[in-house]
Amino acid sequence: MSEIIEVQARKTLQNITPYPPGKPIWELQSEQGLSKVVKLASNENPLGPSPKALEAIVCSLSDIHRYPDSSTSNLRQLIAVKLGMGADNFIISNGGDELITLVSEAFLEPGDEIIVPSPSFSEYEFGAHLMGANIVTVPLGEIYSFDIDAIVNAVTEQTKMICICSPNNPTGTYLSKSVLHHLLDVLPKHILVLFDAAYSQYADADDYTDGLEFVRAGYPIVVLQTFSKIYGLAGLRVGFGAAPESIIQQILKVKEPFNVNTLAQAAAAAALHDVEHVHLSLQINRQGKNQLYLSFRELRLPFIESMSNFVLVELGPDAKSIYEQLLTKGIIVRYGGLWKLPHHIRVSVGTEEENSTFIQRLSEILKLT
Ligand SMILES: *Cc1c(COP(=O)(O)O)cnc(C)c1O
Repeated sequence: MSEIIEVQARKTLQNITPYPPGKPIWELQSEQGLSKVVKLASNENPLGPSPKALEAIVCSLSDIHRYPDSSTSNLRQLIAVKLGMGADNFIISNGGDELITLVSEAFLEPGDEIIVPSPSFSEYEFGAHLMGANIVTVPLGEIYSFDIDAIVNAVTEQTKMICICSPNNPTGTYLSKSVLHHLLDVLPKHILVLFDAAYSQYADADDYTDGLEFVRAGYPIVVLQTFSKIYGLAGLRVGFGAAPESIIQQILKVKEPFNVNTLAQAAAAAALHDVEHVHLSLQINRQGKNQLYLSFRELRLPFIESMSNFVLVELGPDAKSIYEQLLTKGIIVRYGGLWKLPHHIRVSVGTEEENSTFIQRLSEILKLT
């Protein structure tokens, strides 16, 4: 049957290209007929989920005929106590990704501008496109540091929001506390800073800030956090935003009532207090990062020291081909072309075994090219 459809979608949707997720393990297995696949593409926790979260899920299973708590009171209260703020300073979302969409829906009018350092996480642009806002990209400076002067210079009458990811995905670089403070002080107060701290738990530099102190101080800032990375709950979809209360109230207006499911709420509450799981995750990450650094040095591959759980490494003009050859050998990483870094790949830090398999395969490929 031929279709006769003349319904027009909103014009702004022409700007949206689907998010290219890291290839799932099952897909590569069926494409290549491989039984063993190592996925180091989505910065997931190689240790797995917190055992306490798993227990909490089992305990909640018999409640799933009921709607979830639409105000996520228990989880918000636990987060508030842990972070020393009020429960009204938080909104729980269906992953950090949903928070970005909600913030965009709450604050961006068509024609508004958002400033995004580049390269960075692509979801900020998605939110802007969705609302018909315009994107102003500002390149990162030398060795992918944040160029604050360039960001401030990019501010216009139309600027509504500035998105800062720290540690930045995909570079692993971060913005220091004093520089963020300076930025917040010089910006006009009608500009909202979306501070994406999805990887904050991994950052160990003395001058790193997760941005929360500036929420407490009442600046126009929304801090994004997620349970997908160090807490190992990516498949459940839960994250949150922290902001001054008046900002949270606006974001709540565009939230669906039941955006975070019962199992996710229970698991996140348990994972938040699983100190042992977080501690072990950090340890594996620290060791894994050193393992990768050492191998990259041996292979004479330039890389950026990362404050996070992934490393951006430069493979040169053959990077795309190397990325594809890695796939045929059962290794999934991220190709840098996604961020207009055609000579790079981004590799998530895995377990010791996963990292060695990756390095072995990479070395085999490099000897051939
Ligand atoms: C992973 C990630 C998020 C949030 O991911 P969710 O799974 O939606 O919570 C947010 N920002 C950055 C930079 C990320 O890498």
